[in-house]
Amino acid sequence: MLNIILFGPPGSGKGTQALKLKLKYALIHISTGDIFRAEISSQSSLGQELKSYMDHGQLVPDELTFRVLKSYFGENELQKSQGIIFDGFPRTLPQAEALDTFLSERNEPIQVVLSLLVNEDEVVSRIMLRGQTSGRSDDNDETIVRKRMQVYREQTFPLAAYYTSQKKYVELNGEGSIEEVFTALSNHIDRTLALTESADMV
Ligand code: AMP
Repeated sequence: MLNIILFGPPGSGKGTQALKLKLKYALIHISTGDIFRAEISSQSSLGQELKSYMDHGQLVPDELTFRVLKSYFGENELQKSQGIIFDGFPRTLPQAEALDTFLSERNEPIQVVLSLLVNEDEVVSRIMLRGQTSGRSDDNDETIVRKRMQVYREQTFPLAAYYTSQKKYVELNGEGSIEEVFTALSNHIDRTLALTESADMV
């Protein structure tokens, strides 16, 4: 069993890598951004509310994020022992604490937090490039993209200290090619799996 958080700023490649890791390690992929965009596509009033935050580069408030996730888990029940890769969640300290509580009830804690380091100008240009084809309104406007980076620095990056204190936080260079970053991530995951297996045998 493997529970991982893929951590890093918007545009650091979390989504791309999460899809590849999901296939390689047979994981469930949970991306709150994707869950929110699906809700917006359904044209519900909840979707409208989510969109009003996302379009401004702000985080969706925790209470609303928890509400959407609860209903998502209500509809997509997780089997125990299905490994999960979290992408874009948690983004705040209350989210990280709620996730720890949820996973400790399943007795399946996060094993490793893999953080992709990419320089800010590089992620901004990657997002603007993605905006030409992604259809995401929050990818098209540089002011909004920079705002998302500021929100990341102020509200999300502090989680690095939270997971460092749990001895789970690992930083990796996210500026290589997709395959180079994927190899580096896979190597860390293989090491984590080997450590977990040897601890289970003791
Ligand atoms: P992403 O697809 O992960 O880049 O997320 C797109 C947008 O969705 C973010 O800029 C936030 O507005 C919102 N969002 C995604 N995940 C979260 C989360 N865990 N907490 C709050 N807002 C989120």
